[in-house]
Amino acid sequence: MTNLLSLSDLRTQFATDRGRVKAVDGLDLTVREGETVGLVGESGSGKSVTALSTMGLIDDPGEIVSGSVELESAHLADEFRAQYKNPEFVDGDVIDLVQAPEEALRAVRGSEIGMIFQDPMTSLNPSLTVGEQVAESLRLHQYGGRRKDSWLNAVRELLPRISRDIDDEVVERTIDVLESVGIPEPGARVDEYPHEFSGGMRQRVLIAIALACQPRMLVADEPTTALDVTIQAQILDLIDDLQEDLGMSVLMITHDLGVVAETCDRVAVMYAGEIVEEGPVDEIFHNPSHPYTYTLLESLPSEEKERLTPIEGNVPDLIDMPEGCHFAPRCPWAKPECTAGEIPYKQHGAGAVDHRSKCVLDDFDTDEYGTEAMVAKETSEPSDNPLLEVDGLKKYYQQGEGFLDRVLGVDQQSVKAVDGIDFTVFEGETLGLVGESGCGKSTAGRSLLHLTEPTDGRVVFAGTDLSDLDSDELRKTRRDMQMIFQDPLSSLDPRMTVGQTIQEPLKVHDLPASDPDVRGEVKTELSGIDSSRVTVTASDEIDAIVGSSDGVATAHVSVTVEGSEVDVSVEERLRVDVEVERDGDTVTAVDVTVSPGDSDRERQRRRVNQLLDAVGLEVGQYDRYPHELSGGQRQRVGIARALAVDPDFIVADEPVSALDVSVQAQILNLLEDLQERFGLTYLFIAHDLSVVRHISDRIAVMYLGEIVEVARTDELFDDPRHPYTQALLSAIPEPDPAASTDDRIILEGDVPSPINPPSGCHFRTRCPQVIPPEDLDIEQAAYREVMDLRQRIEKQSLDVATAREEAMEGRGKQAATVSADGGTAEHGAVVDELRESHLSYSLSPELVEVIDEALEYVVDDDWEHAADVLRDRFESVCERDAPELGTADHPAACHLLDN
Ligand code: SF4
Ligand code: SF4
Repeated sequence: MTNLLSLSDLRTQFATDRGRVKAVDGLDLTVREGETVGLVGESGSGKSVTALSTMGLIDDPGEIVSGSVELESAHLADEFRAQYKNPEFVDGDVIDLVQAPEEALRAVRGSEIGMIFQDPMTSLNPSLTVGEQVAESLRLHQYGGRRKDSWLNAVRELLPRISRDIDDEVVERTIDVLESVGIPEPGARVDEYPHEFSGGMRQRVLIAIALACQPRMLVADEPTTALDVTIQAQILDLIDDLQEDLGMSVLMITHDLGVVAETCDRVAVMYAGEIVEEGPVDEIFHNPSHPYTYTLLESLPSEEKERLTPIEGNVPDLIDMPEGCHFAPRCPWAKPECTAGEIPYKQHGAGAVDHRSKCVLDDFDTDEYGTEAMVAKETSEPSDNPLLEVDGLKKYYQQGEGFLDRVLGVDQQSVKAVDGIDFTVFEGETLGLVGESGCGKSTAGRSLLHLTEPTDGRVVFAGTDLSDLDSDELRKTRRDMQMIFQDPLSSLDPRMTVGQTIQEPLKVHDLPASDPDVRGEVKTELSGIDSSRVTVTASDEIDAIVGSSDGVATAHVSVTVEGSEVDVSVEERLRVDVEVERDGDTVTAVDVTVSPGDSDRERQRRRVNQLLDAVGLEVGQYDRYPHELSGGQRQRVGIARALAVDPDFIVADEPVSALDVSVQAQILNLLEDLQERFGLTYLFIAHDLSVVRHISDRIAVMYLGEIVEVARTDELFDDPRHPYTQALLSAIPEPDPAASTDDRIILEGDVPSPINPPSGCHFRTRCPQVIPPEDLDIEQAAYREVMDLRQRIEKQSLDVATAREEAMEGRGKQAATVSADGGTAEHGAVVDELRESHLSYSLSPELVEVIDEALEYVVDDDWEHAADVLRDRFESVCERDAPELGTADHPAACHLLDN
C-alpha cells in the first residue's frame, strides 16, 4: 500500500503569555491508502491540533513551526503545476500542505481530504439548510465554486439556462449524498435546518458534507463522542460502509479505546505532543510496548477488574515539558536515563510487524503494577433496608405557557421527561440508571431530590415522604441527599475558590456549628472504666461542665472502653479534647477537656481541609480557582462539596463522562472508597455502560421517561431481557480488536420526542422484535419495515414528489405524460416506487394489496385513510397496550415476557 498522507517531524506551537505551548512536538505518522489509523490519547495530548495542522486550519496564535504534511495526489499535483509556475510545494505526485498557499489548501480540503468535526451543533451553520451546506461543498469543489475567476461561473452569467441545469444537478447530488449517509426521505429534508435534526442525524449531515466530493482521505475528529452508544454504533457502521464503497483512508481521532479497537487497522498513541507508540491494532491492544499505552489500557473498567488502576499524576504542562521522556514523572518503570536527552524509537514485535515505541525499555515487568491497588477493598454488602422509594414519579414540562396561550386557551403540550417511574434504592448500594440522552435520567435524579418539583408521584426518603415537607423541612432533609454534577467546570462558580465552594453548603446548613451557649444536662457516661480515672475539665470560657442554669455551657460526653480502645463521642457541639493514658492494654487515665471550640469559620475551615484530604486534594489547593485545576481535580471538588454536609445518599449525574479514562479510574475508585468509609448510598446516572457495570450493584434501564428493566448488574449483562437493553448492551464498543460485532443490534432512528411519545410500549417505533398480530404470517424483519413505513405515513413524511419523479424516469417521461389510461398507470408506478423503496422483503399478495391500497391514499394526499388502512391490518399489541414493569426479581416491561 502506498502512503497517502505522511506527517514528518511536525511541530505546532501556540504563543501564550506564559510561553509557547508545544501542542504537537515532532510527530511522525503515515496513513496508507485504504487503511484506518486511530490516533488516541488523553485530552491535551495534541490529537485535535494534529488534525487541524493536517488540514491547514491552525489559526493565530498558533503556527506550524516545522515539519511537513505530505499528500500524495497525482491529479492535484498536475493541477497545481498548471496553476503555479514551478510550485515549490509540489514534488512529483506529492504536495506539501505546510508549504502550500491557502488557495491551494482550499482545493485540497473537501475534494481530497474531508473532515468530520466533533460537535455537529457547533460545526453546522444554523442559518443555512442542511442541503445548502452539503451543496456548498459540491459547488466549491466540483461545480466551479463561487469564485469570480471560475469559468463555469462566467458561463452561468452568460447562459442562465446552463446555470439552472447545474443547480438542478447540484440539488440532485446533494440528495444522493444525504441518502448515502442514511438520512431518511432526503428529498423532503434537504430544505430543513440543523435544529430540525436529531443529534445523530446532524452528525450524518456533517459526514455528508465531508464526503460530498468523495475525498480519498477522511479525518474524523471524535466523530461519535457527543453521541449515545446506539447512535455511535450507527455512525461507525456508516463510516465503515462508506470507506468500503469509496476506498477511503481514515484518520480516526478519539479518546475511546473501544472505538479504536473496533474500527482501526493501525493505532498511534499520543502523549504530550508526541507519538509514543504505533503499530497494528492487535499488537497495541495485546502486546503494548510503551508504559503509557499499558497503563492507559489498565485504567479501563472491565468485567474482570474489581478495582481500577489509574495512572498517577497529570499530563505535563506543554509549556514546560520534562526533559527526556515526557511520561517519566508518571511512569512506574522510570529510570535515571529516561530523563536525559531524546528517547529513540525501538522496534517491537516480529520482524515484519511495524510496531515502534518511544521508550528505553525492551520490556517491563507488569506483574507488580497495580497489584496493591487492584486488591479489592473490603466492600460491605448493601442492606435490605430501603433508603429511597420512588413511586409513580412524573416530571412534565409545559410548553407554550405564555400569557396569550392561557387567555386563548391554547393547548399546552407537555414534555414528558419522566413518565411514572418506580424504583427503590437500598441502604449502602449503588443503583445505576442508564439510557440514551433525552431518556429522562438526569431529570429523574433532580426530581427525586425535589431540586425540580415533580409533577406527580411520591419520593420517600428514610421513611419521610418528601412531598409532606415544607420548604424549610425539605432544605434540612436535603442535607442528607446530595448531588454530584456532570460537568465540574460549569457546575462550579468560577468566582469562588475551592475552599469557598466546599464551605458554602456548610454555611447554608450551619455546619459544623459551634455554640458555646448550649443548654442541657451534662452527663459523663463511663462504661467499662473506673470513673476515678476520668477527669473532665471545663476550659476557662465555660462556667461549668455540669449544670443547666442560664448562661452555662454544657456538654454530654460519653467515654466507653472497648478492649484497649477508648472512643469518645460528643453529642453537643463543643470542642472536646481527650487524652488517654495507657499501661499496655489497660487504660489508666482519661482527661476530657471541654471548651467552646473554634469559631464557625475555624471549624468550617477544618472541615474543608478534612474533605480535601478525603477526596485526594492538597490542603494547599484551598485558595485555587476552578480554572486552575485539572478536570479530575474539579470533579473531586464537586464530590467534596457533596460530602461536606455528611449526606447518606448521593445522586451522581454522569460524574465521570467529561473525564479521560485514567482520571475516570481515579474518581470511580474514590467514589467506591468514600462509599465504604462513610456508608454512602448512590444513584449513579451514566450513559457509559462499562462504567455503570463497574460501579453498580443493580442497574435500572430507562427509555423515554420510563424504566424498562431492573436487575442485578451481573444478571443484566448475562441475561438482558428487554429488547432495548439487549440493543444497548450490544452497542458497547469493546476495547479488544478480537471482539466480534456480528451479534450487534443496530437500532434504527432516534429516541422519539417526549412531547408525544408512542402509544403502548414507547420503544415500539425502534424495537427489532415488535410483535406482529397473531394472524399475520410475516418475517420479523419484514414486519419491522412495514411498521417503519406506517410511522412515516402517520407522520406524513413520505417523499411522494421524489417517488413520482423516480417513477416517471423509470417509465420514460414521454409515456408518463401522455398516459392513455387517464393517469392510472402513472399512479400505479408511483405506488410501486414508494413500496419498493421502503420495503425490501417479499410479502404475501394479501399484504401487498393492503399496503398498495394505503399508498394509493398517500399518492392522493389522503394520509389519514392511508394510516387507518395499515392500522387495521398491521396493528401490534405493542402499540395498543403499555407493558407493565412488574415486581419480579428481574423485571422487564415487554409483552414478549407476558405469560
Ligand atoms: S522511557 Fe523511561 S520513563 Fe519513559 S516510558 Fe520508558 S521507562 Fe517510562
Ligand atoms: S413490548 Fe413490543 S415493542 Fe416493546 S419492547 Fe416488547 S416486543 Fe418490543
